Amino acid sequence: MKNIAILGSTGSIGRNALDVIRSLGTDYSATALTSNSNWEMLAQQVEEYHPKRVAIVDGEGGRRLKERLSGNSVQILTGEESIEEIVADANINFVLSAIVGAAALPATLTAIEHKKNLALANKEALVMAGGIVTERARKKGVTLLPVDSEHSAIFQSLSAGRRSELRRVILTASGGAFRDYPVDKLDKVTPEQALDHPTWKMGKKITIDSATLMNKALEIIEAKWLFGLKAEEIDVVIHHQSIIHSMVEFQDGSVIAQMGLPDMKLPIQYALTYPERRPASVEPLDLAKLGKLTFAKPDLQRFPALRLGFWAVNDSGTLPAVMNAANEVAVDAFLERRLKFTGIVRAVEEVMHKHTNKKNPSLEDIMSADSWARKEVRNAIR
Ligand code: NDP
Repeated sequence: MKNIAILGSTGSIGRNALDVIRSLGTDYSATALTSNSNWEMLAQQVEEYHPKRVAIVDGEGGRRLKERLSGNSVQILTGEESIEEIVADANINFVLSAIVGAAALPATLTAIEHKKNLALANKEALVMAGGIVTERARKKGVTLLPVDSEHSAIFQSLSAGRRSELRRVILTASGGAFRDYPVDKLDKVTPEQALDHPTWKMGKKITIDSATLMNKALEIIEAKWLFGLKAEEIDVVIHHQSIIHSMVEFQDGSVIAQMGLPDMKLPIQYALTYPERRPASVEPLDLAKLGKLTFAKPDLQRFPALRLGFWAVNDSGTLPAVMNAANEVAVDAFLERRLKFTGIVRAVEEVMHKHTNKKNPSLEDIMSADSWARKEVRNAIR
């Protein structure tokens, strides 16, 4: 029996995961759910999925949740450390990390510390502290199961050969909302336009990251840590249809790809049922109906974020944490209309240039680089 804690159950991945767990039947249970402040949706999820425990970070949200669920037997935890408490619970044997941003790092480390099976949708924790996360997971014997569709594709494709036979991995990128938009007009685009992703329906932050291609920059670093890759073993190709989720090339030139319609239920289910495959409630792929798949080299003038991703993965140390933190602040500022779309990547790049990189960082080094970068970007935007 898999007793699953979904961290970030009120988000896009979290909601999809609940659907998947329901469709998998009685061997899988959404035993614990968490949110940041969305108490209304968490209350609905309690009524629909009957978890044993829930956690909500926001104190006021917690108060309202308790009021709304008075009489319900669910145990409600609140506050900063409530999510870690959920993860550490002995009844939980599988954790899905679907919190957005750096906020997922403490719970990720707690899950590893308590030797929980761990599926990672959240990529920011690996970008910030991939060396520490993967080293601790190795020591504790915890397998990190990727949920991100690209990394799930690589994970699946890698099984076609040996690690020593690998030449490179090729991450596919849809190109986001502005893949064909005139570059000289990008500084005028609105949050509404940027949130209109052509192929995927996702949370706000990752949708903006997809429009700037910062999402791919983060994924390059995520791939490095998940699969132990060098920077030169990672490539990116633009693939508008989001049908090939990523590829792996072996020494003999064979390229193994994983395909499917763009539906996060598929990689979520694979991570939950791994190493088994079960029938999934997703539409089958009809290649003849699709007609054609296209590929293109990424345009670095349109997508300067990709250059930053390769810079960060090459230099490593505290630089990826700085890139990630600066991006989180800049994306928020763009969504609040305090920064232009083109200002996001510019702000991130400026902070990366200012940063004195520290190699082989401790967790403290990473957290202080993260706070420093947030402060720098806030000041710059002000
Ligand atoms: P959403 O914004 O839709 O959901 C985020 C979830 O995290 C919500 O449940 C939110 O709670 C919770 N959360 C936000 N801030 C905090 C915090 N400080 N502490 C605790 N919980 C918090 O995000 P997505 O589901 O789109 O993405 C989640 C992660 O998965 C990201 O790292 C993303 O990059 C990755 N991912 C997402 C994909 C997708 O299709 N959406 C695809 C591949 C990867 P509340 O609702 O209360 O705010």
